Amino acid sequence: MELKKLENVKVKCDFVGCNNMADYSVSIRRGIFGGTTDICLDCLKELYSLCGKELIPQSPPNMLRKKEKEYAEERAD
Ligand SMILES: [Zn+2]
Repeated sequence: MELKKLENVKVKCDFVGCNNMADYSVSIRRGIFGGTTDICLDCLKELYSLCGKELIPQSPPNMLRKKEKEYAEERAD
């Protein structure tokens, strides 16, 4: 997958319900299949923040809390 900044290209953002002009283009190649999705900066930012929430399942505070919970459970036995 490749993310390219669009320069001097006027295309609409491909995201449903978005009427902005696209600022970036994501190109996808899977063997003989491929395509591009044009995306505006607003949608890209929103997607990025969603990815951030989704892709960091164990941030340090969560791991600490988990350890504390395990410790408390051990003590309870
Ligand atoms: Zn958009």
